[in-house]
Amino acid sequence: MTAVELIEKKRDGEALTANEIRWLIDSFTLGTVTDYQMAAITMAVFLNGLNAEELAVWTDAMMHSGDVLDFDRITKPKIDKHSTGGVGDKVSIPLVPMVAACGVAIPMISGRGLGHTGGTLDKLECIPGFTTDLDAGRFTSILEQYGLVMAGQSETLVPADRKLYALRDATGTVPSIPLIASSIMSKKLAEDLDGLVLDVKVGNGAFMKNETSARQLAETMIGIGSAHGTTTVAYLTCMNEPLGREVGNANEIVESIAVLRGEGPDDLTEITMVLAGEMLLLGGIDSSLEAARRRLAGVIESGAALDLFGQVIEAQGGNREVINDLSLLPSASHTFLLKAPTSGVVRSVHALAVGRAAMRLGAGRETKEDAIDPGAGITLHAKTGESVEAGAPLATLAFNDHDRVEGALALLKDAWEIGEAPTIQPLIIDRISA
Ligand code: URA
Repeated sequence: MTAVELIEKKRDGEALTANEIRWLIDSFTLGTVTDYQMAAITMAVFLNGLNAEELAVWTDAMMHSGDVLDFDRITKPKIDKHSTGGVGDKVSIPLVPMVAACGVAIPMISGRGLGHTGGTLDKLECIPGFTTDLDAGRFTSILEQYGLVMAGQSETLVPADRKLYALRDATGTVPSIPLIASSIMSKKLAEDLDGLVLDVKVGNGAFMKNETSARQLAETMIGIGSAHGTTTVAYLTCMNEPLGREVGNANEIVESIAVLRGEGPDDLTEITMVLAGEMLLLGGIDSSLEAARRRLAGVIESGAALDLFGQVIEAQGGNREVINDLSLLPSASHTFLLKAPTSGVVRSVHALAVGRAAMRLGAGRETKEDAIDPGAGITLHAKTGESVEAGAPLATLAFNDHDRVEGALALLKDAWEIGEAPTIQPLIIDRISA
């Protein structure tokens, strides 16, 4: 078999066989298929797609390009959640201890933020001392002891994806549904899961800008999960305005702790409850979403979920006192209050504009090499459907570097639309399962 034959086959719209796909991914991981040959293949896939059989084998081959985790010793159901990313999307942080406090094990492997969407790892690393860099032994022992662990992807987990993503990034082949779906699912399925809940965000602040493409991505990932024997359920959720009121790394830890105290904003709490509830259903803990929600409300009310979060912070090297004393988190030295230019009702808060402005203040990175400022962020004082008077605060910008403010304010210039009361869009658009 040669790479050129496979490039020509895929270029001409033919399907690759299972053997061909496995050979291709293995050879690319080893370096015997070159980057330029793989780039040609990814462009052919971008243009011609992969059928369901090809996609299942492609994902499986990616998953087996490195270590596959094995949690046989863990008797609890192992369920994870993945979000395609949005502005202010910190759901995983309160959700993981809530679900674990109800008896599900969550071996969560997350990523860093890139562009206008934040990453769970960057947020968690705001907690003084907290490390997301765990070797396999420590990862498993924390999972066994507490039922949850939140770490970054090791060098040996799905190495094919690391190489392939860098190549796609440089060749205009990132926005391909089969390549996105196999990239996400290969990493999640390597976690040895019994079930997976996907939050596929739709809207101006999300990867998927419209419902049609989000639905297609969700269905493709569900198909891969089914082919692998892992029950996968997807929710399509709205990302036209930021989730919650805090955007930025330390800001989002503060709001995550608020959810664990039962004091979180309604939209964030609702999405967290629904996705967490679905995880309890998949784990066989409850048989209806209502019962699951009651159980989740119970672990918030009793303080069990917050306490478990504190225990895991300590197990991962962090200062657990942060759950009682938010002043231990990084902060910014300056703030700027953005005020409403007119009176009226907020019709929309543009998620992408807020995400980009937060990134401009230092909360996100434009390239993988950029450092983030953990204390920089934006607090929203007015969200869709809320009335404001002219001069009332719309947002507080927190920053350490004065040079960044002008750019952030320019991005926020038209972010708030104020006028007549709007029709409120549903937060949860649909639930999709196999
Ligand atoms: N997230 C991933 O992990 N992979 C992609 O290709 C896109 C988003």
